Amino acid sequence: MNLKRVVLESHGPARARLLIIYTGGTFGMTTDKDGVLVPFDFASILEHLPTVKNLGLAFTVFSFETPIDSSNVEPEHWQLMARLIAEQYDAHDGFVILHGTDTMAYTASALSFMLENLSKPVVLTGAQLPISEPRSDARENLITSLEIASAKQNGQAVVPEVCIYFDYELLRGNRSKKVESMQFDAFDSGNYPPLAKAGVKINYNHAAIRKPSNQPLVLRTRFEPRIAILKLFPGISEQVFQSVLRIEGLKAVILETYGSGNAPTALWVIKGLEQAIRNGKLVLNISQCPGGTVLQGRYATSRDLVKAGVISGVDMTTEAAVTKLMLLLGEFGDLAGQLIQKNLAGELTEFE
Ligand code: ASP
Repeated sequence: MNLKRVVLESHGPARARLLIIYTGGTFGMTTDKDGVLVPFDFASILEHLPTVKNLGLAFTVFSFETPIDSSNVEPEHWQLMARLIAEQYDAHDGFVILHGTDTMAYTASALSFMLENLSKPVVLTGAQLPISEPRSDARENLITSLEIASAKQNGQAVVPEVCIYFDYELLRGNRSKKVESMQFDAFDSGNYPPLAKAGVKINYNHAAIRKPSNQPLVLRTRFEPRIAILKLFPGISEQVFQSVLRIEGLKAVILETYGSGNAPTALWVIKGLEQAIRNGKLVLNISQCPGGTVLQGRYATSRDLVKAGVISGVDMTTEAAVTKLMLLLGEFGDLAGQLIQKNLAGELTEFE
């Protein structure tokens, strides 16, 4: 997989220089001969966006050589994006990534952990309808994302973090989830307030936005993909449960529990988890609820998880937990168990 440079010239003096990365997604899709939506070239997108040239911004644009549907995203794509941002970091004021919505929350989460000490905006956006459609949401999503990525106050970026802009709302990337596939409001962040709302003006929620780091950017790119998600459901069999926990070479399991982190109290559940943890696997408790937090020990149905050594994932999304676990295991190995409960990029609430 490769990147190619696309020329996008703008008119007049520029108040900021932005880097745009086009990865694919519905934003630029077109219908093939069977009427199925497939990714398309960035150059064709520009025909629909003449106003971009008159925003008073200068652009550097890179496109995936072969744009993808984001259901095909892999850690290698995150590495490509993060390396490009790190390489181009000093030369740009902000970064906008055009990405399919399906896995946008995973990519935003991954980038938030890969780009440590961020002091510039990285805004991901996309669309529910291709830009070539008259009712498309693509144009507004992109233009406002460019506005946000270039916004400064007293010489500093207004939103120095990885975020998702979609349907008039700016959300923290590693708190976001795709929650809707047909309406325009595709994303939500149940455990964190929006960072901004766009109306006639863009109203920033400054108190919720992370402060810029004054340390140099650190790029982290090593991922350990040998993890699994084990989602509980009433009726889950011991066989299914154990077959995941016993996967050879597996480093960690995200246990998707009920409510505030509860699981069945059947002996085989607790024994299975104890065994997996004794064998060196990390087990992280993430709730199936999009809002609220894991609080192990609140109910009798989570008390034994603490004894078994299950780690609370607090109020992290599954998307944040997956990418954080893979990165921490890849970068820090056995220390991942200690670091997973730390707030690294605003992804979890550290309760007193
Ligand atoms: N399947 C598309 C993708 O994620 C959906 C979208 O872009 O909205 O690439």
